Amino acid sequence: MHRLSLGDFEISILSDGTYLLDGGIFFGVIPKVMWSRRVQPDERNYVVAGLNSLLVRTGRENVLIETGMGNKLSERMIKFYGQPAKLLDSFVRAGISPDDINIVINTHLHFDHCGWNTIRDQSGKIVPTFPQAKYYAPQGEWEYAQRPSERDAISYIPENYNPLLASGQMTLLKGGEEIVPGISVKTFPGHTAHMQAVVVQSRGKTACYISDLIPTTAHIDVAWGMSFDLHPLQTVESKKEYYGQSIPQKWLTIFTHDPKMPWAYVERDDPGKLAARPASSTLENA
Ligand SMILES: [Zn+2]
Repeated sequence: MHRLSLGDFEISILSDGTYLLDGGIFFGVIPKVMWSRRVQPDERNYVVAGLNSLLVRTGRENVLIETGMGNKLSERMIKFYGQPAKLLDSFVRAGISPDDINIVINTHLHFDHCGWNTIRDQSGKIVPTFPQAKYYAPQGEWEYAQRPSERDAISYIPENYNPLLASGQMTLLKGGEEIVPGISVKTFPGHTAHMQAVVVQSRGKTACYISDLIPTTAHIDVAWGMSFDLHPLQTVESKKEYYGQSIPQKWLTIFTHDPKMPWAYVERDDPGKLAARPASSTLENA
């Protein structure tokens, strides 16, 4: 269990499990001879990807950032990705109930980031998994999801967000808003045009859920983007902008899809090379 203190907040990683992704797609234009030194593919060229959500206990609210892949995938999607569906088990292990979540934030609306927003009840009706929560997602992302390109249409499952909007339980964000004191969103275009990272700050300590801008510790170099990125040149610029703030200010970066190291400090060593320094899961940030 990854858990640590961040100022007055406590932050924990809750995993929805792992799944397999084609290594070539995961590493974009990077040749296999290079990426396979960092991540070992299987005989079909698949690599293991994680599904890390972040729980922030502020003392006043329980905030869940991202909700994994969920359990509503179609047969076709399950063929591609499997359907680990472990998030609610992670809740049990963390000693928290879905009823205890006050706020849910989605960085974007791809199926592997908002899957547990909703579940099907026994009658087949779509209902919120977190009934007491206010949900938030980027407005531009939702607008795009109404008419996605053929290229990534498969990634949008309207049942993950449209019923929440219809009921008034989900609010759309322009980017830059502070949702509760110490937790705000910031738009970093690249993976999608409107993806928003979530910045968590308490008593001078900062963590950032950077989502698919930097999906794993193997992707920290600015040119190591994913083929999924819709705007790859913006990914490069957004990463530079992020590091311009996160490195000097010593932010803890949280990686959605890293199966082993869900958070780390990205630092620049003497020759200027980027490196991920692990954060121990103790109270080092306290
Ligand atoms: Zn995505």
